[in-house]
Order: sequence, then structure tokens, then C-alpha cells
Amino acid sequence: MSKRDYYEVLGIDRGAGEGEIKSAYRKLAMKYHPDRNPGDVEAERCFKEATEAYEILKDPSKRQQYDQFGHAGMGQGGFGGFGDGGFEQFDLGDALRAFMRDFGGGGGSVFDDLFGMGGGRSGQRRNRGEDLRIRIKLTLEEIAEGVEKTVKVKRLVTCDPCGGSGLAAGSSRKTCHQCKGAGQIRRVTRTFLGTVQQVTTCDICRGQGEIIAEPCKTCRGEGRVRGSNEVNIKVPAGVASGNYMTIENGGNVAPSNGESGDLICVFEEIEHEHLTRRADDVILEHPISFVTAALGGEVEVPTLQGKAVLKVPHGSQSGQVLRMKGKGIPHLQRNGRGDQLVKLIVWVPSKLNAHDKALLQELEKSDSFVPPASNKSFFQKLRESLGV
Ligand SMILES: [Zn+2]
Ligand SMILES: [Zn+2]
Repeated sequence: MSKRDYYEVLGIDRGAGEGEIKSAYRKLAMKYHPDRNPGDVEAERCFKEATEAYEILKDPSKRQQYDQFGHAGMGQGGFGGFGDGGFEQFDLGDALRAFMRDFGGGGGSVFDDLFGMGGGRSGQRRNRGEDLRIRIKLTLEEIAEGVEKTVKVKRLVTCDPCGGSGLAAGSSRKTCHQCKGAGQIRRVTRTFLGTVQQVTTCDICRGQGEIIAEPCKTCRGEGRVRGSNEVNIKVPAGVASGNYMTIENGGNVAPSNGESGDLICVFEEIEHEHLTRRADDVILEHPISFVTAALGGEVEVPTLQGKAVLKVPHGSQSGQVLRMKGKGIPHLQRNGRGDQLVKLIVWVPSKLNAHDKALLQELEKSDSFVPPASNKSFFQKLRESLGV
């Protein structure tokens, strides 16, 4: 199913500022939130769609990537088969989590009352490790073949001595004395506009509702410490810059034994020495002598699979493009692969000796060496050979 443009989803224009994005999303989220539309599948779809758009556009780097590459840049159209966390599978849980993160917490937002969250501890004691994002640089050759990469990822791992509980041996948890276990504090402030009720996360237990009597010395009660591990990533052939894979639970572990975050591996293409990628085709600009152009012949050209021989037909023009079938990048989600397009550039020598000059002057007398009158269709044909 094709996706709607994120700006269109939120009903904002492409230059919209952060505030506009947030308020547009807030309106839609309030309208379509599952709590207000129980059992309404269409509302749920709208809620997810709006949240996904918001998640991308509120993040400047994701937004830039989206502006530049559209949905393709977000990994869409690439990863159904092997990455579980692509935005294609952005599920209701992710959407609700994103919404609660930005609008559900303290701050006395209208949602506290709307969704009965005020002062309660329902659903928002978030105990999930942070997602981590790494870049994986790939050469065009690696992209063409697919590659397995082992990378070292620095992350927060479970603290060994306490097993992730954050407790010193023999210690236990007790209810937070400040919030009495709620994880939140309600404050009433008087302003000239009237009374404002504010709900904030408890700063003593940091929203957990419980505190540790005697914290583990190694992790200071966090339950996690700095560490790293090696991750093996199977990169399928045909990925592009901006595509990503999600490794579930590969991110930071959560404080006190919660759910780990995910590791998001974003692919980045390293520029090739000779070849330029265009979708799944690769383009090579290759100089040939005008003798080869006129008489035809064979030239050796670089390809993603090493050197290959290319037959140049006689009478080839400078700028003409020859297609080497199947020498491009494999398609990511279907069979087959792109081609290599070789744009011939007829090279004209700039240094000539007397003998060369004499030969050329002789050739110039021949009618065959008179170029045709300038006409558009001649150049049109050349452009068509490149497919532009
Ligand atoms: Zn507390
Ligand atoms: Zn510990």
C-alpha cells in the first residue's frame, strides 16, 4: 500500500516549524486516539499514520532524510522481509508509546484529564531501554553482493553483581515517600488566570514509584552499566542509503530489568571511484578514442564485478549510452537486477605531432568527416539512450 505524504497526513506545509508539527499532531491524536474510539479500526489507522508522520517530522535528521528521499529514505519499500522494526510495521504499541512520551506525561496537559492519566500510574511507568542508532557504511560492491558485517556496539548492559535489579545484596525496594508510589506529583499553582494544576514526574523516584533502600555499588541502583557487544548484521543485496534494519533488543537494556531498546542500523553508501548509482542502475562515464568511436571496437571498463569488456559499435557518438544488462544492483524486494549504463565520451587529443596533424588534415578533406547541421533530434536521441 502506498503511503501518504507525511506533511499531507498532518495537514501542514513543508516549511512548517516544530510548534506547528506538534500542534497539528496533537489535534489529530486527540481525535483518533484509540481510547476515544474504541474498536474503530479506521481511527486506529489514522492514529498510527499521524503518529508515524509526527515521529519523522519532529526529528530534524529524519525529516531531512524524508524531504530528500521521501518514504524510500525511511526504509520503506525495503524491509518487510527481514527488519522487524521498519516504520512499515510501526504498530499501535509504538504509536501509543510515542504519544505518551510527548503528550502523556507530566506538565498538566489536557490529556491527563482526557485519558484519566492524571496522578495515576497506569501505562506510563516507562521502563524500556533507549534505542541506539548506528551507521553502517557500505561500498557499492558490498551492496551489489550483500554482506555480513560484525560491528562493536557500545551500549548499556545488565549490571552483573545485582543482576539488573539495582539492589545491593540483601536490600529491597520500598514505596517512594514523596509520591506514595504514584510516580507523579500534582501541584496546584495560582496564577492571575486562575488555578493551574500541574502533574510532574516525581523527582525522587523518577516516576518509578519505588526507591531502592540500598543501591548496588557497581551500577548505583541503575541496574545497568556501560559495556559493549559485537553484533552480526546480514545486509541484504540492494540496500540504499537511508534504508535501515532494526535489531530488536539490541539497544540499551532498561534500568531495573525492563525491556531493552532496539538497535537501528542505518545504511550509508560510500561513493564509488568510477560508478554512480541511479536507483538500481549504475552509471559509468568512459572516455574512448575517436578512432574506436568511428571504427567500433572493444574497451575494458570497470564494473561492480571487476573489469569487463564492452563492445563499442562503429559510429558511436560522444554522449551515447550503452547498456550492460544485469551489471547493476540487485533489486531489494524482487528478482532481477539493474544494469550498468556506460556513457561514451569521445576523447579528443590536445597534443598532436606533425605527423598526426598531417593525417587529420588529410581526413578533413573527406565528406564523411563533415558533421550534420545542428538539430534537436540528434541530441534527443543521445539523451534517450541514457533514459533522461
Ligand atoms: Zn516518587
Ligand atoms: Zn548493579
